[in-house]
Amino acid sequence: MHELSIAQNILEIVHQYVPAEELENVEFVKVKVGEVAGVVTDSLTFGFEAITAGTSLNNAKLAVENIPFKVQCNLCSKIFSNEFGITICPLCNSSNTKILSGMELQVTEVLLKENEEEQ
Ligand SMILES: [Zn+2]
Repeated sequence: MHELSIAQNILEIVHQYVPAEELENVEFVKVKVGEVAGVVTDSLTFGFEAITAGTSLNNAKLAVENIPFKVQCNLCSKIFSNEFGITICPLCNSSNTKILSGMELQVTEVLLKENEEEQ
């Protein structure tokens, strides 16, 4: 499963940013997933839960923010969207377009539970 290896990558990123003794305090891992990034959100969440079960990240939840696919035409400036990842302008048929969003696949934030020792 493609999503399982992505979940594995997310896990590695969490391990890079959070010291081992803090891992069990991770509450949410926020991830931006573009509409046409080729990732099924449910499978990703499932994969993440599967690989964190029984580890120090057992309590961590994946918070997925879905980013809509948006393309802007460089010729007529029209901003358009579709669920297929098509980048040809529907107004002037130009392929001279730029993708504004929808290809994202990134960890944006790792949220830890409030830690009393820090205050
Ligand atoms: Zn156009």
